[in-house]
Amino acid sequence: MSHRLLPALTMAEEALVENFHVPTSGERHFADPIVFWDETLRDGEQTPGVHFTPEEKLRIAEVLSEIGVSVINAGIPVVSEEEARAVDRLVHAGLAAKILAAARTVPADVDAVIRSGATHIAIFVAASNVHLRYKLKMTRDQVLDASVRSVRAAKEAGLHVAFVTEDTVRAPFDFVERLYRAVAEAGADRLVVADTVGVMTPLTFRWYLREFRRRVEPRDWSVHCHNDFGLATANTLTALEEGVTSPHVCVNGLGERAGNTPFEELAVALEQLYGVKTGLDLSRLYELSQLVEELSGVPVPVAKAVVGYNAFSHEAGIHTHGILANTLTYEPVQPELVGRHRQMILGKHTGRAALVEKLKERGVALPDSVAAELLARVKRSSERRTKDDLRQFLREYRGYFERPGISDAEFWKMVDEVRAEARAA
Ligand code: MN
Repeated sequence: MSHRLLPALTMAEEALVENFHVPTSGERHFADPIVFWDETLRDGEQTPGVHFTPEEKLRIAEVLSEIGVSVINAGIPVVSEEEARAVDRLVHAGLAAKILAAARTVPADVDAVIRSGATHIAIFVAASNVHLRYKLKMTRDQVLDASVRSVRAAKEAGLHVAFVTEDTVRAPFDFVERLYRAVAEAGADRLVVADTVGVMTPLTFRWYLREFRRRVEPRDWSVHCHNDFGLATANTLTALEEGVTSPHVCVNGLGERAGNTPFEELAVALEQLYGVKTGLDLSRLYELSQLVEELSGVPVPVAKAVVGYNAFSHEAGIHTHGILANTLTYEPVQPELVGRHRQMILGKHTGRAALVEKLKERGVALPDSVAAELLARVKRSSERRTKDDLRQFLREYRGYFERPGISDAEFWKMVDEVRAEARAA
């Protein structure tokens, strides 16, 4: 796996260097390519209350694949007949993305993945003391033995094998080292470090991954981060700075509890803050987000980065005035990049410039005094939480909103109609 240093500074980095002389790019060792591993259909489906039918999984997988995600975790075939059918649908859909299915370290699970026809398997087992003692009720030697056997069986069947431990970062490091070295020896292709309960910070995770690299010497590695403290994106970016090959992501940050690293946040941060070329079609991120919102039934938070309703909305006069002069004033990400449009929201903080612009878009020009009155009504409607004031204004001044004359489009439509009539005659 090759690594690249980034010669070009992004706009954010330029500001850092210029203002604070912070050295940035030299510390980063991004893998090339970065292998996006999507967990929406597995961990994302484990969001409380979420269930995708096989057809719904296929619809999501098609878009993920077209956008450029490399690996899609389709689910755990041993869970149910329907789950096995979903994996089967994805395996036979002819997608560009690799289809992965997951298995515990038990023969029935591994066999089910082999039978599914998936080319990739993720074999998982818990690693921390608390999981071994209270959940698995297995000794470390038993865990190690079951893991090695499962990896061998999957390799013999010709699968690409990722090995995952739940709660990796809270497990004793000596055991992690012994276990991961043993499965790598048995043929595991990719080693996954999981912060299953989201307790890492960027600083502790950096230390952890450097120590992991020193002890285990992974050829190809991956991280699975959870968002219990809102740090999943930050921690995953730290991992990528350290050369981790394959980030786990979920669309809209779905997943158990507070969810996983949001796909859209990670992709846009890599491109815009670090200048990394992900090879992803970012312009379809919003479409993907809306599809997953609809099929999962989990609403996207209004203030969510990249895909939230307000992510590209502006109300305050100072902001809209800046945006109208140059969008870079208040938009570090241009909405078109992710398939969205900016919105100027009318409300208490609306300024004159935004209002005039909004009217101009529809060909309405108001005298200054009328525009000032309209602005006052907009603010009052917002403060009183009723639209009555605004509606009353529109009634009183409706003459300004009736458009006299004929627009270009209407004119040429009439010309075409007349020509068609002449031809028909
Ligand atoms: Mn998880």
